[in-house]
Amino acid sequence: MLCPNCSAAVTQGQRFCDNCGIRLGADVASPDVQPLNAPIGQPPIPPSVPAPPGAYQSQPGMYAPPVVPNSNMAIISLVAGVLAWLALPLIGALVAVICGHLARKEIRESGGRLSGQGLALAGLIFGYVHLAVVALTVCFVMLFAFVFVGAM
Ligand SMILES: [Zn+2]
Repeated sequence: MLCPNCSAAVTQGQRFCDNCGIRLGADVASPDVQPLNAPIGQPPIPPSVPAPPGAYQSQPGMYAPPVVPNSNMAIISLVAGVLAWLALPLIGALVAVICGHLARKEIRESGGRLSGQGLALAGLIFGYVHLAVVALTVCFVMLFAFVFVGAM
């Protein structure tokens, strides 16, 4: 066959013309052939552009703090605190408060080997706020019940 650009002889299956270098995409049956309607003349984006320094790649050992595992108690506390609001009122809050306190104690006594203070604190807050809301609700319900019963 002949190159459509320069009419040099090219072998069937060849992907680029030896003479002018044009892509012979249309007539070449190749498994990874490029789309035929790709705009001609625009060079494809180079596949491996060197990333600017520090852009996306984390550089190990430079900025990463030493890996300190989170206290399991702290994780349980946070999860239970969230669950108290979503699925497990009272029980979740109690678990969150208990585990939150245990986690803070555990983290304090670990001497830096355990992390998760923020998780434990969040779990404690979720738990305590939930308990406070429940307690207030119970108070109001009882108050209204007494008023209602007393009015009868
Ligand atoms: Zn050619």
